[in-house]
Amino acid sequence: MPQLKRENMKKVQVNKLGKAFSIFGGKGNVWSGTAHAYKAGYGNLCGTPALSSNHAAMAGITEVGCPQCLESLAAFGVANIETAPDLMQMK
Ligand SMILES: [Zn+2]
Repeated sequence: MPQLKRENMKKVQVNKLGKAFSIFGGKGNVWSGTAHAYKAGYGNLCGTPALSSNHAAMAGITEVGCPQCLESLAAFGVANIETAPDLMQMK
């Protein structure tokens, strides 16, 4: 898996990913802006267990900021190319 530089990371609005996706994150994700993309029937895309309370949703976070989740979104081809051009070029 290619190592993405942090400056290349483009956050993705979860509402552009379709109905199967939602935002998920604990308090730490809220603080650091690294909320996960949670896919129905799958879990967090990066494999982080969705065990803690969904503080990201409760805080009204709408941006996926987890680098691993963003990588997975790009790999799945569902990352919005309008908002994540750098990610798409990394493929
Ligand atoms: Zn994640």
